[in-house]
Amino acid sequence: TRFAPSPTGYMHVGNLRTALFAYLVAKSNNGRFLLRIEDTDQERQVEGAVEIIYKTLKETGLQWDEGPDIGGPVGPYIQSQRMGMFKKYAEQLVESGHAYYCFCDKERLDEVRKVQEASGMAPRYDGHCRNLSKEEVAEKLAAGIPYVIRQKVPTEGTVTFHDEVYGDVTVECSTLDDQILIKGDGMPTYNFANVVDDHTMGITHVIRGNEYLSSAPKYNLLYEAFGWEVPTYVHCSPVMRDQHNKMSKRHGDPSYEDLIAQGYLSEAVVNYVALLGWAPGGEREIYSLPELVEAFDIKGISKSPAIFDIDKLKYFNSAYIRAMTPEQFAAVAAPYIRQTVKNPTIDPAQIAPLLQQRCEVLTDIPEKVDFFDALPEYDIALYTNKKSKTDPAVSLEMLKTVRPLLAELPAWDDETLLAAMKDLAERLEVKNAKVMWPVRIAVSGRAVTPGGAVEICRILGRDETLRRIDAGIAKLEG
Ligand code: GLU
Repeated sequence: TRFAPSPTGYMHVGNLRTALFAYLVAKSNNGRFLLRIEDTDQERQVEGAVEIIYKTLKETGLQWDEGPDIGGPVGPYIQSQRMGMFKKYAEQLVESGHAYYCFCDKERLDEVRKVQEASGMAPRYDGHCRNLSKEEVAEKLAAGIPYVIRQKVPTEGTVTFHDEVYGDVTVECSTLDDQILIKGDGMPTYNFANVVDDHTMGITHVIRGNEYLSSAPKYNLLYEAFGWEVPTYVHCSPVMRDQHNKMSKRHGDPSYEDLIAQGYLSEAVVNYVALLGWAPGGEREIYSLPELVEAFDIKGISKSPAIFDIDKLKYFNSAYIRAMTPEQFAAVAAPYIRQTVKNPTIDPAQIAPLLQQRCEVLTDIPEKVDFFDALPEYDIALYTNKKSKTDPAVSLEMLKTVRPLLAELPAWDDETLLAAMKDLAERLEVKNAKVMWPVRIAVSGRAVTPGGAVEICRILGRDETLRRIDAGIAKLEG
């Protein structure tokens, strides 16, 4: 299989899904996965776009077996470097009667189009040069008249091709245009290059978006005209933003890179994207890339468009975050912790364990932990908590009582801190929460924190903890 992106500077979710399916079809059949850059449409060229493709495929683990950067037996793998290869194939079709030289100039074609438009017909070539004799052609060529080469589509009958997802698709030949194969400058059109490339590169399974479904009949006629084996077609329905609209950059839908920047893990994105329009059967949803290779079957691809659901992706992401080892998580979380916790005496590795069960996306992290750096402004109303049976007055009492105990603790670890607060609660004959809640508010200024009073005090260290408790006391004393 091949992934044949046009470098448009943006790897949208649908593109990634196409690449993933192409990879999975290849790998689940012990096949090879090629990367071909289709850069012949010069107007759509975007600086740095090829790098985005490489980067995305690498980060997602979709390693290609052959491609522009690593070469391979059927290169070059950049379409613009293959330009010299196509004309002889078109001439071969002229020879066999499946294509013809067309010498119509722009004026004539414009005229034809105008007439067609005026009579409400779909614009198409009118076949003017279809039946020029060999001599006429030779004469015009010799006279140096500019020409294109067009596909000679049968005027009647139907063409049927099989798609693994859409089944048999049949169209009337009369609806197909005699499309240009070789342009006036001798270069192939995109459609022609695509077919010749797929064949000459030995592609057996073509996986692509269903926007190419309508071109497939013409492609099929070309394969037949050449006498080449038609590849297995797998056209995939689009990935939608809602019932009616495809995902699009214009509507602000995220690309792969955007999702990563929004704090999603590559593995979670790949897992979720695999399930956009493909179902393994059964309840299981969590699959690593190698497990997807194991489970993949073209039969599981659906015709109905898949809707991209960011909440579902979040669910996958939290599952992946929870499944990481603490060390892995600490490593990915560290830069996000550092965004708000700049104090060099606080090690992000201490904070990370408090977060692993509590974040859906990595970008949740900075605002959850910013209080470690500096105590935020907070309202004393936070000291009121029904469950803990606290209010500002109770809290003031608790803080005043716990403060000297903490100042004297022989050690500063979770065990010692917890024992001290529990002992105090026991002595006062109150619930632990009645001690812990005020402490947590005083040291964090937040009603919701990753970790509780004990962990936060431990990470802040004794001096900072006491300083914050003093500030709390002062605040409560008004
Ligand atoms: N270059 C085309 C695109 O990026 C893909 C065509 C194909 O896969 O056949 O949309």
